[in-house]
Amino acid sequence: MPTFTPQALHALSLLIARRMGSAEDEAQEVADHLVRANLAGHDSHGVGMLPAYVRLLQDGLLVPNQVPNTVLDAGALLVVDARRGFGQRMAADAVRRAIDRAHELGACVLALRNASHVGRIGTYAELAARDGCAFTAFVNVADHRDVQAPWGCAEPRLGTNPFCAAVPGVDGPSLLLDIVTTTIAAGKARVAANKGQRVPEGCLIDDTGQPTDDPTGFIRDRTGALLSFGRHKGSGLAVMCEIMAGAVGGGQRVDQPVRGGILNSMLATVIDVSRLADPAAVADHVEATKSHIRSSRPAPGFDEVQLPGEPERLAAQQRTDTGIPVDETTWYEIREAAAKLGITDAEVDRAVGVN
Ligand code: NAD
Repeated sequence: MPTFTPQALHALSLLIARRMGSAEDEAQEVADHLVRANLAGHDSHGVGMLPAYVRLLQDGLLVPNQVPNTVLDAGALLVVDARRGFGQRMAADAVRRAIDRAHELGACVLALRNASHVGRIGTYAELAARDGCAFTAFVNVADHRDVQAPWGCAEPRLGTNPFCAAVPGVDGPSLLLDIVTTTIAAGKARVAANKGQRVPEGCLIDDTGQPTDDPTGFIRDRTGALLSFGRHKGSGLAVMCEIMAGAVGGGQRVDQPVRGGILNSMLATVIDVSRLADPAAVADHVEATKSHIRSSRPAPGFDEVQLPGEPERLAAQQRTDTGIPVDETTWYEIREAAAKLGITDAEVDRAVGVN
């Protein structure tokens, strides 16, 4: 499996985003986001998404350099329609506006509508937490085939609908929960299928509604479904993500006609912690809670007790040193997508430093 430095994958992502037509600030935002997702260990939302973005562009379902429409700007309420803009820039720009507003007013509720795939939601929580803000987000996925079978369903009826929450620490989040409401992300099934691997038991059903651990049908034939995590509880959270982001936030709904894009809407709250509580007392409570949980003996099969946000921090430290592996199929798909934009193999090799 080829392994690349973060700088090499950043250069490649920049090359592709620029050739997709993105202006420099957008191309940088996209490349930063994708490589940071890989560094965090979430390959499902890293550079392996570039082929999907090229397809969306060529199908007219992703609009580079989009100017978002501010639908409502009323004090602590901000509603932004991204109109299929490149999700990473649309979401980061909207969240930065919400952070400024939270510093001004104490808090901001942001409804971001209809961005093309915004990627790893934790990235936006990190933006807020680095600026002293607590963050929550309900996100829905629309304009895409249903992939999640809610509790009790033998067929898919929702997207993977992620939920995210973070609190600020000294330099970024001290706790960051960033989860899909399915047992695994659809991108993780793609990565497993690309590597010829099975997925853990209890994640997938096939087209007859029976459990399976083979992701091939789900990815290649678009049949079957991912199961909600935690039985009716994850399923219920997925439904609330659809309603909060789609109905309350006004984004695209899951039951609207599908054009084959990936549209994310996000209902987020951003709270300037210093306006609500003493940040030192909050930090103390967070650290005390973490220590209390860590004081438990690890359960059988666990080396250590971890808390939300730690696996990503450890992965980033490790991958900065050892590089980021990209499986052969993903690497082939990225080169193929680059070729569709007129980028030659030599240009790809130059970008990643292979001569
Ligand atoms: P995951 O299953 O790895 O869970 C990640 C979360 O669980 C993180 O908060 C992590 O810190 C925590 N965690 C992991 N292992 C832990 C442990 N041992 N102890 C304590 N906490 C632990 O990831 P996922 O749910 O598959 O989500 C992957 C990514 O996919 C997320 O970044 C999400 O935002 C992204 N996503 C995006 C979209 C979209 O449409 N834009 C859709 C779905 C998923």
